[in-house]
Amino acid sequence: MGNVTLDDKTFRPYIPYSRIDEAIAKVAGKLNEDYRDCGEVPVLLCVLNGAMVFFTDLITRLDFNMEVVSVKLTSYVGTQSAGTVRKSMDFTGNVKGRKVLVVEDIVDTGNTIAEISRLLKEAGAKETRICTMLFKPAVFKGSVPPDYVGLSIPNDFVVGFGLDYNELGRNLKDIYVVDSQ
Ligand code: 5GP
Repeated sequence: MGNVTLDDKTFRPYIPYSRIDEAIAKVAGKLNEDYRDCGEVPVLLCVLNGAMVFFTDLITRLDFNMEVVSVKLTSYVGTQSAGTVRKSMDFTGNVKGRKVLVVEDIVDTGNTIAEISRLLKEAGAKETRICTMLFKPAVFKGSVPPDYVGLSIPNDFVVGFGLDYNELGRNLKDIYVVDSQ
């Protein structure tokens, strides 16, 4: 694993896929325990675009029936959180009266998951839980932390495995960290 250049920044190797794989296996194990006998078909909500790689890897390890819905939100510009979260595409399916598991790539300040939870409540979801591949506890400002976390990381800007820098780097199999801010 060497460095990669995306646009004007260089990124160095940070988390190899072998560790991501182990983390996803653990999260999938917990989800299987919690949802297998929950008595209904939950909705797994893929938060585009960042979560799509994690989402695909995760759901192929789940052994309960589920429906898949997507939504698109944007809060980052470059390497900084823009603070306000914009919904740029609506839920692609119905969540009314459903148990919803939100699948996120990364929880940073928590603004995005707070907004998704609000939107889901507004749309009539009866239960919302959050599952995220990465969590930055040092910068989290929300009141409710994610229910399922793959890996906790320091406050570093990372790319790869779905995460982008100016829309680049989502296809990288491993996770990289920015070398120069
Ligand atoms: P929050 O709303 O929790 O501050 O940020 C969540 C969103 O910001 C994520 O869904 C992701 O799109 C983006 N984000 C936060 N931290 C990072 C990071 O380290 N790298 C990348 N590429 N995106 C991030």
